[in-house]
Amino acid sequence: MNIKVVKFGGSSLADANQIKKAADIIRSDERRRYVVPSAPGKRFSDDIKITDMLYKCNALAQENRNINETFSAIAHRYNNIIEDLGIDLSLECELETIRKNITEKAGSEYAASRGEYLNGIIIAALLGYEFIDAASVIVFDEDGTFNNEKTQPKLRKRLKGVTHAVIPGFYGADEKGNVRTFSRGGSDVTGSIIASAVKADVYENWTDVSGFLVADPRIVDSPKSISVITYKELRELSYMGATVLHEDAIFPVRTAGIPINIKNTNKPEDAGTFIVSEVPEDESNKYTITGIAGKKGFAAINIEKAMMNSELGFCRRVLAVLEESGISIEHMPSGIDTLSVIFPYSQIEGREDEVIAKIRKAVAPEHIELESGIALLAVVGRGMRRTRGTAARMFASMAHARINVKMIDQGSSELNVIIGIGESDFDEAIRRIYDMFVNSVEE
Ligand code: ASP
Repeated sequence: MNIKVVKFGGSSLADANQIKKAADIIRSDERRRYVVPSAPGKRFSDDIKITDMLYKCNALAQENRNINETFSAIAHRYNNIIEDLGIDLSLECELETIRKNITEKAGSEYAASRGEYLNGIIIAALLGYEFIDAASVIVFDEDGTFNNEKTQPKLRKRLKGVTHAVIPGFYGADEKGNVRTFSRGGSDVTGSIIASAVKADVYENWTDVSGFLVADPRIVDSPKSISVITYKELRELSYMGATVLHEDAIFPVRTAGIPINIKNTNKPEDAGTFIVSEVPEDESNKYTITGIAGKKGFAAINIEKAMMNSELGFCRRVLAVLEESGISIEHMPSGIDTLSVIFPYSQIEGREDEVIAKIRKAVAPEHIELESGIALLAVVGRGMRRTRGTAARMFASMAHARINVKMIDQGSSELNVIIGIGESDFDEAIRRIYDMFVNSVEE
């Protein structure tokens, strides 16, 4: 039988009502056999996530302060969930042990992990699935890095013959038995690891949005959602700020060739977004582009020197100065006698004159200037490879809006075009590109 591994995020499990929706989703498809829950997240916008409350308990304990008030709020939330679900379960003993351990300084990773641990026990009880403590199957090295080679065989052995299970997300343990966690949002990673161990047909990641959108809905009014995106495209878009999924969640399933399906717990009927390795041509996006994302806060150093192209080692000397100054560059567009380097402004802030002086000394340019307030936009799409005129349309839309393009960089994969513009043009540029490539396409 096909297997689906399903991960539910914090907002999908924030209270009993949300948990019931998740349980209905799980029960509605018998292939949903392995469930990875997050800790209860926010019920409303200024609510506090259980994980954040647990981090706070740990911080108080480390300062030898009393954790009782914050811890009672946590216990109260779990007890309410149990009561509202109407299940026959008591977490009193578990809660008491956790309160004691946190007070005795078991540490931040132990404290934070308990959100998922307790939620896992509740959800397993509700579904009648076996509960498997992630500390017994997800292996970390002592330096805190996840060890996939040791985890996979351990998981496969433990899950052999177990047809249905709940395995909490976000944590595991090192070989000394200390609880270790992934970085924030890490339940996504656990889901991916489990999916790869059981060779799932799909890894469903349930959240509070119906997948990825073509552009940021705060900028573009009701943008279309992306139905299929490749891992490579996703990487380009995530790097530029589109966040739905933890970055490390991609690798385990990608290697195993398992697609990820981002789904909305509040609208299970929506298809969501499929993240896949390759897309067959006929299923390709009807738009040339898959998504638009971007970031502000970049700066450029523009350097000019006649005959620089024939000066051996010119680029290397400029780059050496940046490396010594701890500046990591994003792009390096160049002309015959000009060279620019683009990097996050925060990396040079307060040291502008010093870095410029070092470059002057290294390459004696005729002209050098620092330009800040730059935004980078990434227009990403596998469709660009097979379509002519993409760049022309993109720049025509910028020109009509009187947006000055400062930099253009097309990756060799022809999967993305990065353009540098002034920060004040950022929103308008995204809207124009969206109009050109999505709105203007006939339905
Ligand atoms: N509960 C953890 C966090 O808030 C992990 C997760 O939800 O994925 O970061």
